[in-house]
Amino acid sequence: MNSPSNKPADSWSHLLHLLPILVALILGILVGVFYGEAMWKASGGPTKQQATLEKAVAASTAQGLKLDGDPKAAWEVSHASLVNKLQKTNDIVQLVQKEPPSSIAGASFRLIKFLGDLFLQMLKLLVLPLVVTSMIAGIGGLGDIRGIGRLGRTTMAYFLVTTIIAVVIGTVLVVTISPGSRVHGIIEMPDERVERRSTTDPIDTILELVVGSSKDPGSGMIPSNLFQAANATNVLGLIVFSLVLGGALTTLGERGRQVIEFFATLTDAILQIVRLVMIVAPVGIFAIVAYNIAVRGGGEAFWTQAQQLGWYVATISIGLISQFLILLLILRGVGRSPMEFVLGAGRPLLTAFSTASSSATLPLSIQSMEDENGISKQSANFVLPLGATVNMNGTALYEAVAAVFIAQLHGISLDPGQLIVVVITATLAAVGAAGIPEAGLVTLVMVVTAVGLPASGIGAILAVDWFLDRLRTTINVFGDMVGCAVTDRLVPPEHRGGKNHG
Ligand code: ASP
Repeated sequence: MNSPSNKPADSWSHLLHLLPILVALILGILVGVFYGEAMWKASGGPTKQQATLEKAVAASTAQGLKLDGDPKAAWEVSHASLVNKLQKTNDIVQLVQKEPPSSIAGASFRLIKFLGDLFLQMLKLLVLPLVVTSMIAGIGGLGDIRGIGRLGRTTMAYFLVTTIIAVVIGTVLVVTISPGSRVHGIIEMPDERVERRSTTDPIDTILELVVGSSKDPGSGMIPSNLFQAANATNVLGLIVFSLVLGGALTTLGERGRQVIEFFATLTDAILQIVRLVMIVAPVGIFAIVAYNIAVRGGGEAFWTQAQQLGWYVATISIGLISQFLILLLILRGVGRSPMEFVLGAGRPLLTAFSTASSSATLPLSIQSMEDENGISKQSANFVLPLGATVNMNGTALYEAVAAVFIAQLHGISLDPGQLIVVVITATLAAVGAAGIPEAGLVTLVMVVTAVGLPASGIGAILAVDWFLDRLRTTINVFGDMVGCAVTDRLVPPEHRGGKNHG
């Protein structure tokens, strides 16, 4: 059923599959926007926000003592906004103490958190076994290790070209629109993840990508301990190992073929589980979306933050839409109907939007590409797991926009040489970001520090990052799926192992 000549399902059947998830997503947004604030108050959100803001005010006060002249004037504006926000939060805390919110709101919050976590955990549970089995089966299925050449080269070339297009679009847009010079009084919130990363040298960050951190034997592309890599969900480390193991199996003749067959069967079994999980996807997606809006204070709170950073949000959104259109053109170029392909990819795309995680979406991407879009097993098994960790078009674009935006906020205009540094480091930062929520925010430290900006500047974009993360993850996942269509078209079946497996 998964041969390259698979006939994709038609638009109507795609739409029918998609409808429940689409409805769930819209309902989730509505509940989050209109009932989110009540749930946030009932779940102790204001007190948590108060504590975070108190810490931020203390840090900002200490920073202000060290400043003078122009930087001091800019600091005063941002500090005043911070103090103002703390005051408003204090008022809400008092109000909540006087008039405790209804217990229904509290119970609803717990319920959506529970349902969302359950769905997410089901997906995450499937990621590791699926990555390992599908990679071994995919590479083993190439029949001969030399077969990896054409498929590997085409995939890597596609990843590189689309990532660079994304970074260039982001850089051109942010320089042209200049969102950083249009906004004022932005609060720079401290963030532990960013602070931790800011002490690492950018070169060390790149080297760590390969060998991992000396403190964590499970990290890096070549981890020293496979089980710890699995424990840390180091997908890239597991992919590299599975690639090599799959390749080695192809050299063992009949004995190796039997093991490859075993992994191919296991992959199919896990995909069957994915199809079962899909049944509860609408409930899960509804809950995740409603929870994520509620936990940040509901619709009004989001609107206030989005308005403040409106130009920045708009720049990234325009960039992501442009990248989406380019991916559609690529689809056209390889003879696919963009409309049908997007509808067939609808479930993983909406899941990526809800979960903000390429890795968590991976099981659905593989299943949808094979079942809905008639992508060959070999392309799906090879391109998607790799793409979920190294090919991030949306993240690459975001890294470039965010870094230049932060420079603009600090009144610094980057020269062409520095912009080239942004393009290069943003590409690396996207490759280095794991397929988990807000991973790009942490690797952004590398881009920001490479052009001499303070990592603390990232604090200015924190408020909207959870939302932009969803948008960029959707494009990340779409980029990977388009990659499958490209390899299916450009790599003849015999070079994908089409004759040997699948
Ligand atoms: N959340 C993104 C992903 O999983 C990575 C990022 O933070 O940009 O693809």
